[in-house]
Amino acid sequence: MKRLTKLKIGVVAIAGLSGIGAGYLVPRIQLSQKGYEKQEIQAIMDVDKEQRELFFETEKIDDVMTWLSLSPNIERYQDYVDYQSLHTDMDSEEVKTTVDLILENPNIFIFTSPDTKKSFYAKVKQDKIEDYIEDTNANELMSNPTDIELLVTNKAHFSMSYVPSDLEKCAIPSSEDNEPLQYLRQEANEALKAMADDAREEGYILLNNSSYRSYFDQEDIYDYYLGEYGQAYCDMYVGDPGYSEHQSGLAIDLSSESVQDGTYFVFGDSPDYDWVVAHCVDYGFILRYPEDKTEITNVANEPWHFRYVGKKAAEIMKENNWALEEYKAMN
Ligand code: ZN
Repeated sequence: MKRLTKLKIGVVAIAGLSGIGAGYLVPRIQLSQKGYEKQEIQAIMDVDKEQRELFFETEKIDDVMTWLSLSPNIERYQDYVDYQSLHTDMDSEEVKTTVDLILENPNIFIFTSPDTKKSFYAKVKQDKIEDYIEDTNANELMSNPTDIELLVTNKAHFSMSYVPSDLEKCAIPSSEDNEPLQYLRQEANEALKAMADDAREEGYILLNNSSYRSYFDQEDIYDYYLGEYGQAYCDMYVGDPGYSEHQSGLAIDLSSESVQDGTYFVFGDSPDYDWVVAHCVDYGFILRYPEDKTEITNVANEPWHFRYVGKKAAEIMKENNWALEEYKAMN
């Protein structure tokens, strides 16, 4: 039997060389062509036939012997490899446990693209994920994170892994002291550009203080403010990670050149702010947390935080003097 197999390999290898094509190559040769070593090929050939197929459909899995010894879930191996390449300090066992936790909770860890998955892998470690799964199971996860009209409240929250798939570089410059590279979702960004262009024609130059923030950005901000200003301040002004509208990619904290150059102390006192409040509806933006709606929004007045909701919704809200909460309750 063994001799026969060897003979067959020889014949097919020659057929392959003579140009008959890869379709005729036996599995061992295919694996070898992917770059697997002899010992690895043997280990793969020992796997159940159905599971083995996965090795032919994917690129070479690094350290395949390790993963075969740790996990029967071959479809996760590439994820193990990806995760480990981002956490070279972690051993394979830890990598496997962490990735398993993520992949076994697809309702919690949602990925909108391979890139967002990789950037998520880069940020999380095992202990954090365990706590997060526990917390999330105790609270409601947002079911429609990509909805332009979505309502972020203290009840439903964004998944730790949620990153909008259509983020683009923000159309207006950042103010000094803020991250120069900022992002917004495409539709919101186009509307912002139109608004900022029109504002500029009237002499108001808008700047970006903060727009899209990932779960992890929000966590850093929260920790910073907690350390500097304490819990009461955070409860008033800083969303918990997963509970900030900034994770939607539809919100922006505005500033202006007139604030940056010291003419006005804060954006809310500037004529630029007055212009934006008067005109933002035409571009689909709302002042999200106005002074007269704090009891409904449960968020203190934030005369800088604007939210894109689309023109139609913004108009209805303006006509009725509704906060987003009231609009959502009626629609
Ligand atoms: Zn804000």
